[in-house]
Amino acid sequence: MLPVERGIEIVLSLAKEKNREDRMAAEFVPLRDSISRILREDVCCDADSPPFDKSVRDGFAVRSEDVTAIPATLKVIGESRAGAGASVEVRRGECCEIMTGAPLPKGADAVVMVEHTERPAADSVRVLKTVRENEGLLRRAAEAREGERVLEAGRRIGLADLGLLATVGKAAVKVSQKPQVAIIATGDELVEVQERPQPAQIRNSNSYTLYAQALEAGASPMLYGIARDNLDDLRNKIRKGLEHDVLIVSGGVSMGKYDLVENVFAECGVQVLFDKIAMKPGKPTVFGYHERAYVFGLPGNPVSTIVSFHMFVRPLIRSLLKAREIQPEILDARLETPAKCDPARESIVPAHVRFEGGGYWISSAVWKGSSDLVGLARANALIMIPRREGTLQAGETARFLALE
Ligand code: AMP
Ligand code: MG
Repeated sequence: MLPVERGIEIVLSLAKEKNREDRMAAEFVPLRDSISRILREDVCCDADSPPFDKSVRDGFAVRSEDVTAIPATLKVIGESRAGAGASVEVRRGECCEIMTGAPLPKGADAVVMVEHTERPAADSVRVLKTVRENEGLLRRAAEAREGERVLEAGRRIGLADLGLLATVGKAAVKVSQKPQVAIIATGDELVEVQERPQPAQIRNSNSYTLYAQALEAGASPMLYGIARDNLDDLRNKIRKGLEHDVLIVSGGVSMGKYDLVENVFAECGVQVLFDKIAMKPGKPTVFGYHERAYVFGLPGNPVSTIVSFHMFVRPLIRSLLKAREIQPEILDARLETPAKCDPARESIVPAHVRFEGGGYWISSAVWKGSSDLVGLARANALIMIPRREGTLQAGETARFLALE
């Protein structure tokens, strides 16, 4: 059976194949819609930031040498407010009233906070505290210089990035187009969320978890509902799904008599690159391609579907998007309880993780197997237990993925 890392390698190398590489074009979106999208251009400052020496306090712009002995009484010669500087030059014994964000007038080299002053008369101020040169202000270009690169292509646009894009004047932002992901659930036992299951039926949950995972990954998901376990229905839905950038079918890929998805993939000409992964849960994970579509058959059990998407589908989507961070973030934790290894498969199972004393501590969560969403909902991480003989002992290091 294929190890997890090998499976990921196969998925990513197909995504990077020459004729497929420029798959997702870039598009321009209005700034306000660019949050969480993948940036497709380097972004440089169009001006120094800040663009002028500016005050970061409300107070008085002074010459620091005038206030080395305090209290010091200075003559107020003008006012510099945000949006309008003061065309004055501060000379010995003088100062200029100034507001936060306003340009520093010539001659001044520090700003005294208004809280550290008294106003004996309209044209004079008594300074009660000394300031050092450059205190209370930010020099021009202290944050970045004109032309300096502040954001790199491949970055997922976060909140600070969005503010920065606005600051440098990007009304429209160049981002990757979202891959279109078709999602098909399969199973004769499934009913839709709003329906009441009859005996032997259950509600379809995979469509919704996959939809949410595809959205989070940066794709544009589309639900094709439930295909029944017969060749006709599967064919119809899978053919439609193959017109998208990515097709995800959940269920119907194990060894059961009615697991027909692989048959239909073969009939439709899908080239399957693997159909089993040494992973627990998630063993029957199928990956292949058909013309321009990437095709996944994910195991039907709800926890398996989630884990499999996370390990294989998400990196593919991130790679299509040309994101710099493709793989999920994997962290190290100390085990609080022993974890039994499986020599046949890597286990990626629900766990509780907490941060204490400068590090993470983790223990396996109680769960009843790959259908147990209750157990997964109570967990906050997936622990990765390596494929090998024996047991990881308490105190040993284990890797994990944090869940939201
Ligand atoms: P299968 O691989 O089709 O045999 O499915 C494995 C298990 O997952 C079965 O118990 C199914 O009932 C369950 N299952 C399959 N698809 C879904 C779904 N969309 N939502 C919830 N459970 C599912
Ligand atoms: Mg099924």
